[in-house]
Amino acid sequence: MPLKPEHLLPDETLLELIIPFGKTFVHRQDCYPRQVLSGSYVCVKEPLTDTHLVAHVRGTLTLGAYALDAQSMAHWLCLDADDEAQWREVLKLAGFLAAEGVPAYLETSRRGGHLWLFTPPLKGSDIRRFGKQLIAAYGLSPNLELYPKQDSLKTGPGSLVRLPLGVHRKSGKRYPFIQLDGTPLAPTIREQLVLLGSPQRVSPDFIEQVLAEIPHEEPETVEPIDFNSAVLSPADGKYLSERLKAAISVWDFVSRYVDLDKQGRGFCPFHDDHHKSFGVNATANYWHCWAGCGGGSIIDFWMKLRAARGLDSSFTATITGLADMLLSE
Ligand SMILES: [Zn+2]
Repeated sequence: MPLKPEHLLPDETLLELIIPFGKTFVHRQDCYPRQVLSGSYVCVKEPLTDTHLVAHVRGTLTLGAYALDAQSMAHWLCLDADDEAQWREVLKLAGFLAAEGVPAYLETSRRGGHLWLFTPPLKGSDIRRFGKQLIAAYGLSPNLELYPKQDSLKTGPGSLVRLPLGVHRKSGKRYPFIQLDGTPLAPTIREQLVLLGSPQRVSPDFIEQVLAEIPHEEPETVEPIDFNSAVLSPADGKYLSERLKAAISVWDFVSRYVDLDKQGRGFCPFHDDHHKSFGVNATANYWHCWAGCGGGSIIDFWMKLRAARGLDSSFTATITGLADMLLSE
């Protein structure tokens, strides 16, 4: 659906809209990326001014937005879907986030689209950990590009995304923001600029919840357990924990204890849950609780369940118990 030709707005009106819009997306003003006809970008080593932003909306110049500021901080992340398959995955994620009440913004693009999450200022490394965990927790394609692409800047201004609502130099088109059902986020560029000038941000609580779900590496010093030498034959060459994870899928194991619906959602067994905060991602072979109970493999699940039942929930007791159940079945 084409947007109305807002480039006819007078300068003063555009300026009022463009300053907050610029604050939402622009991380640094000492230089700026400019799109050339091929669709790629050159870094212009001059200060970015409001005049440039007005020209961007008018379509006489097309800007990019660097994903990190000069101190390697960011206040947004962007997932870039480069084709239709990736775009469908991104839409799925947007649906999940909407169900959680987490604000995400969808922007169409030449071949797919972008999902933007606006956050409080975060270190590049933290915002990337947050983005990577979202990708993993929902089993999205690891080929999805996550911006910022760098944890921190070494040389040069780093990765960038096309600044929204301008004219793509190669296709000559503008790409609006849309809602989950595909209708425009707002009917005119002017209204989209206003909405993006004060976007809803992802709450620090949600970011912490997601970061807390990053599975901990199992300590490398754990000795193979002499639980049953027949099970743990040296020829296997695998730690018991790996064998356990291979023995049954998270979905199959967790279903024994949690009533999961078709989407893999259910009531969390670890807290007083009235919202089906618990979910299993069958593709990524992973469970998680959005209310903050954590997530991970069947070992993490069994450890928590043992703790909830007042049983010894040490790593050794947990995997010994699991081996009893799963490897001798
Ligand atoms: Zn929970």
